Amino acid sequence: MADFDAIVIGGGPAGLTAARRIAEAGRSVLALEKEAFGGQLMNLEWAEDYPGPGARIAGPALGSQLADQAEAAGARLEIGRVDEIESYSAAKAVSLADGAAYTAGVVIVAAGLIPKPLGVAAEACLEGKGVIHCAVCDAGLYRDKSVAVCGGGDAGIIEALYLAKFAAKVFVIEAAAQLSARQELQERADGNEILDIRLGRRAIDIVGDDGVTGVTIEDAASGARQTLDAHGVLVHVGFAPATDCLDALLSLDDHGYASVDIHFESEVPGIILAGDIRRDAARSAAAAAEDGAKAAATALRRLGPK
Ligand SMILES: Cc1cc2nc3c(=O)[nH]c(=O)nc-3n(C[C@H](O)[C@H](O)[C@H](O)COP(=O)(O)OP(=O)(O)OC[C@H]3O[C@@H](n4cnc5c(N)ncnc54)[C@H](O)[C@@H]3O)c2cc1C
Repeated sequence: MADFDAIVIGGGPAGLTAARRIAEAGRSVLALEKEAFGGQLMNLEWAEDYPGPGARIAGPALGSQLADQAEAAGARLEIGRVDEIESYSAAKAVSLADGAAYTAGVVIVAAGLIPKPLGVAAEACLEGKGVIHCAVCDAGLYRDKSVAVCGGGDAGIIEALYLAKFAAKVFVIEAAAQLSARQELQERADGNEILDIRLGRRAIDIVGDDGVTGVTIEDAASGARQTLDAHGVLVHVGFAPATDCLDALLSLDDHGYASVDIHFESEVPGIILAGDIRRDAARSAAAAAEDGAKAAATALRRLGPK
């Protein structure tokens, strides 16, 4: 007999909603999260457009609320990084990085997205020494200093605007001739005097030995290079689905996405995907929570009557 009826991988809005719905149906469910329950919400100052009485809600407050609701419904929440999922006729087996393993009738994978690296040599060496991934977590370190954000999409501009509350200067480096962030964010960026937006420039190197001291950029048109003084670099040049734990089990496309049917079930029956990890996800907290509810319904159908 399996340890749990269902295992949910990822503790963001998709995973927590799925876990809550399954627990509310009277099924045993384990939710596994490698970092912090709440997922990406824990890194956001505000989650905008989440349905509710206000126009926005603090990201960590929403994340904690979703975790509390799942736990109150009876889901077991545990910190642990899932490395591998195997599928056998009787059960699915989930192996964790710390050596623990659990089995369940169904597995919902709601592991979200991971930021793509810039791909320059010094990036890995300077990780945690000025190369950062979360403005809300690290902005305080850059009070009255200069920092750079690589990427002018929604995520890059949201992070740059948050850093601008602390830093003396925030360079925004965007390879294209225009920012790709939504209009409202572009207007906020244009009106912010702390932001120094460099369009048509590619970040080609991060400079520093024990800590970041600068970012070298290249003009896309002329090839001219310049090193900007920056004590930190935040990279938001796109995201990839966090499907590492699935690559031995499912066929993934060139971008790492798995195919699912209209019920979010993958090619392996009982392996269900939900939230931002899905190719067609709307990439918002509300959409992820809705995905989680739908994935839970699929899981309950697959488990059958109690
Ligand atoms: C800068 C930025 C600003 C945003 N602003 C908004 C906003 O204002 N409003 C809004 O609605 N949305 C916003 N979003 C989008 C929103 O945060 C996401 O759409 C939503 O969090 C996706 O939920 P999810 O549950 O699919 O994934 P996530 O929230 O990413 O959660 C996935 C979780 O899975 C965990 N995980 C990954 N791999 C494993 C593993 N192998 N084992 C165990 N755990 C694992 C991760 O640690 C993570 O906690 C923003 C996103 C970004 C990046």
